[in-house]
Amino acid sequence: MLQISPPATSRLLLGDEAVALGAIDAGISAAYSYPGTPATEIMETLMGAAPDGVVAHWTANEKTAYEAALGVSMAGRRALVAMKHVGLNVAADPFMSSALVAIAGGLVVAVADDPGMHSSQNEQDSRFLADFARIVCLEPASSQEAYEMTREAFEVSERFGIPVLLRLVTRIAHSRSPVTTAPPRPTPPLDKADRPQDWILIPGNARRLWHGLVALQPELEAWAASSSHTMLTLSDDDRGLGVITAGIGRNHYLENGADLGYTPSHLHLGAYPVSAKLIRNLADHVEQLLVIEEGYPFVERRLAGVLPTRWDVLGRDSGTLPADGELTPDTVRAALGLPVRTGIDLTGMVLPGRPPQLCKGCPHEESFEALLAALAGIDQSVVMSDIGCYALGALPPYQAIESCVCMGASIGMAKGAADAGLRPSLAVIGDSTFLHSGITPLMDAVAHRTPITVLILDNGTVGMTGQQPTLLPGSSLEPLLAGLGIEPDHLHVIEITRQRVTELTALLRAEMDHPGPSVIVAVRECVEARKDRRQGTAS
Ligand code: SF4
Repeated sequence: MLQISPPATSRLLLGDEAVALGAIDAGISAAYSYPGTPATEIMETLMGAAPDGVVAHWTANEKTAYEAALGVSMAGRRALVAMKHVGLNVAADPFMSSALVAIAGGLVVAVADDPGMHSSQNEQDSRFLADFARIVCLEPASSQEAYEMTREAFEVSERFGIPVLLRLVTRIAHSRSPVTTAPPRPTPPLDKADRPQDWILIPGNARRLWHGLVALQPELEAWAASSSHTMLTLSDDDRGLGVITAGIGRNHYLENGADLGYTPSHLHLGAYPVSAKLIRNLADHVEQLLVIEEGYPFVERRLAGVLPTRWDVLGRDSGTLPADGELTPDTVRAALGLPVRTGIDLTGMVLPGRPPQLCKGCPHEESFEALLAALAGIDQSVVMSDIGCYALGALPPYQAIESCVCMGASIGMAKGAADAGLRPSLAVIGDSTFLHSGITPLMDAVAHRTPITVLILDNGTVGMTGQQPTLLPGSSLEPLLAGLGIEPDHLHVIEITRQRVTELTALLRAEMDHPGPSVIVAVRECVEARKDRRQGTAS
């Protein structure tokens, strides 16, 4: 586990590590997270570096993480909650409503987006969620900014009484750059919010609080415009092109800008809501605008409501930059009208394909073999699956699963497919994903006695994100499943080994014929987690 030792004031940090350190130096009392790339290292760093007395916990899912952080805020203390972008969908319920309550201790939600989908199922841009909630968003372009913005986000949260979203992207979260730190702020004492009417969102209170949040918007926009993270430079060098950058877009722009031969006017946005005033100031000075932003065309679309219709804005929507995937210095270079940089032509080089695979000795291998054997000869089966290493079961040599949509979806989708008439209908889900959000859809299946068979692959860890501990031990699964209403005759726990593949196959076959829900837990430790445990490096 990474250790950040205090006395040094300048160090080389990942963006994620800088967020963790910024939160510690801002005097947090607690931090909560569920593992998810590219945000995982925030909590891993906190667990290694937070001083005694600061709570740093993995939680069941992002919603429970957010709610715990909200409770810390109500107690008058500062809390950080960290997650990947799709995790914010899970936490969306408390997140959206927390914008209305009177945040007491600073509440900062650090969200790492994954443009280019290096390890995610979609490319969503969390700036839209911050805008949707009508709160402030800060977007760093370096580890130094990640540190500073995290600290500042707590001040902003307390000043305006709202949560603040810190938006990272993969290239910031996982890139190292120097960070100079400032003296830490002491943890504030307990100071419980004393107006329950500002925390109880029954309609009468909620309407008043929502009205207040809407009325606050001009103040938030004025704050963002005057923030040190928002920079407008008007240039008379050439009044043709004006460039708007956001977050890491600035890095790609600066890497190419020197080759332009002139200095365009430039507005950089590191703080949101977008300042309409600054956009108009820039637009009044130039003839055309190019927006360079990572993720969706968030700023580009905002301009449509700010500028007169004659404006032709260049960006991702206009096709000047690619509409999807990560920006690169080269795509930004082309958007600036600069010639392609020459390099070594590697287009003729044939590299062997290296599709991702389960680790050698992975316990899922035997489970997939048993699953395929159980389904052999059956025409109309369906195998829903989920987020985790076992999603690799979609690829050769197994090709054993047919869906992977979002955390916990396998069980609900298997229920729906069974309701539609597909039999047998199976769900394959990991132990951590089951605890994250597989329990509630299984309750649906129990309540309606839906004929599905759930195969829980209990490898005792969150394997895909780096072997973080599963929230509850595997031994808790059987009583939990029995308590949910899975009948004892249709609840099985099997230690899966090569010698027991036939036994698991037979169990699956038998349960696929059961006219109600059944669960088989296939237990064997992840080989990577076992290695870590033996080396004493497990989280
Ligand atoms: S990390 Fe663990 S669970 Fe994931 S593929 Fe490797 S052995 Fe299997």
